Amino acid sequence: MKALLLSGGIDSSALAHWTRPDICVTLDYGQQAALGEAAASRAICSELHLEHKLISVDLSSLGSGSMAGRETALGGAAPEFWPYRNQMLVTLAAMLLQPIGLRELMIGTVATDLHADGSVRFIQTLNALMRLQEGCVTVTAPAQNLTSTELLKLSSFPRELIGVTFSCHLHRYACGQCSGCIKHREVVDEAFPQGTS
Ligand SMILES: [Zn+2]
Repeated sequence: MKALLLSGGIDSSALAHWTRPDICVTLDYGQQAALGEAAASRAICSELHLEHKLISVDLSSLGSGSMAGRETALGGAAPEFWPYRNQMLVTLAAMLLQPIGLRELMIGTVATDLHADGSVRFIQTLNALMRLQEGCVTVTAPAQNLTSTELLKLSSFPRELIGVTFSCHLHRYACGQCSGCIKHREVVDEAFPQGTS
């Protein structure tokens, strides 16, 4: 079984369209935007006719920065920094899916991801760690060498589904002002210049 971590944002939604996983998994780990991410992910999977599962584990007391509703991030990191986030997401998804046949877990990291847990070396290391454990699960990031705009174009993601995607870090509904919403707007403008489809 091939699975995808789906947040409902542009990157993971484009990956869902491009790679057609057997199942998509969304995590509500207590982040501020959890309800918005879950709703967008459900809608994307419904539109693309993909199976969807939601994992809910409240880790908000261990979060940091804007995604946890706090003014600053731990250690002066970027405002949306959440410690050990990617390995937490991969671990929780694998805990659910490995017993039912998970072989590959894809994550939506892109080339412009500046966090340490978005680097090629980190993904290689996380893959090696997961493969050492029961089930020998492989972790891949098929868009790790692409920008979000390149991924959106390469995946042939339908223009009419852009409005279903959701990248806000702060709220249930897109605020239009956080770094997630701003990136969403910039990527869409670049991939679909006005007047194109
Ligand atoms: Zn926002």
